[in-house]
Amino acid sequence: MARPSAPPGSQASLREANRQRIVDALTTHGSLAQIELADITGLSPATVSNIVRELAAANIIDTTFGSRSGRRAVHVSLSRQDGIVAALGFSARSLDLVLADSALTTLAERHVPLAADHRYDRELDRAALLVGDMLEGVGAQLSELLAVTLSLPVPVDPDTGRLAVPGLMPGWDGVDLAASLRARLDVPVIVEHGATLGVLAESRAGAAVGARVAVYVTVGHSIGSGIVLDGVPFRGPRGRAGQIGHVTLDEQGAICRCGNRGCLETVAGGRALLELFSGIPGITRLSDLIAEAESGDAGARRAIADAGKHIGVAVASVANLLDPDVVVIGGELARTGETLLAPVRHAVERAALDGARDLQIVGSGLDGRAEITGALLAALHAADASAAGRVLSAG
Ligand SMILES: [Zn+2]
Repeated sequence: MARPSAPPGSQASLREANRQRIVDALTTHGSLAQIELADITGLSPATVSNIVRELAAANIIDTTFGSRSGRRAVHVSLSRQDGIVAALGFSARSLDLVLADSALTTLAERHVPLAADHRYDRELDRAALLVGDMLEGVGAQLSELLAVTLSLPVPVDPDTGRLAVPGLMPGWDGVDLAASLRARLDVPVIVEHGATLGVLAESRAGAAVGARVAVYVTVGHSIGSGIVLDGVPFRGPRGRAGQIGHVTLDEQGAICRCGNRGCLETVAGGRALLELFSGIPGITRLSDLIAEAESGDAGARRAIADAGKHIGVAVASVANLLDPDVVVIGGELARTGETLLAPVRHAVERAALDGARDLQIVGSGLDGRAEITGALLAALHAADASAAGRVLSAG
């Protein structure tokens, strides 16, 4: 973000730094009571009050009156601008594109299948074209697009925006993906692991609201997880935290795409499940398997239940390590509901300390749209931060 430029150490530069702290806190937390702003920024209530008044006068923030713990309180949020944000949700074999307005109402949506050997350059070209098409379809200009989130099914290094682990998504390694997409669309771009976006959305508005420690496990072609600790996403210093799909379940097991043997993905990931049905016509994609299970096919239901059991063994270890309040199971396979969830719970009860008796294991509270919702939320934050940064540096 561009910083204002008063001489360092001067009274003016201190005031600017304090203003920036307040804008950063609102960018991260959304709406806050004025007294919470003081707690979070470490500034005195009087300083916060003065800065809030200045920023409201400059239309950078909005204030509303409400109550907090039964007392009158001023609530503060960044001024919402009109405009559109986009989420590009890549999985191993498909791309979901969603445009939404600043109230997160969906304006347009596309689902595109991907070839098994897709590469970043071709797919970002195509995604940029599709975003342009979709904007045109809703009667909007490219200039109305505020920010885009690129959600990926693999861990992302938070410092570099590049894939954190080489080899998991061949054709996308070693590239500054944010810069690459920004060059095509000329707006702020966030690049994030889909599971981290999922846990953020579930914590903000879904099944993990109020949880201090929440884990979101996405189960589809790949298996990954996003973690929120004490309300803050935990990615690890290199972005590799939460790789539940590569927890070893069987040291002598099948070779995983990560190079190890017997990872959870080799027995419960989409590829492994589809291999069980190789040669059976009509089941070539996960959506086929899910449809078979939903229509009551015993073999399909058994395959998904067994996947749930293996996932539960890994979740039990997560429960022992992190003591979460809630584990949300999302991703494509979670569309089968209790067929997947009941065996997960059963395995956790057997394998976790004390049966993890206080742990809730639930489906998405966002109708299976946690990762896309999280991507749209992240894009809105990026748009707010960018707009506030421009106003602050101009003022
Ligand atoms: Zn692996």
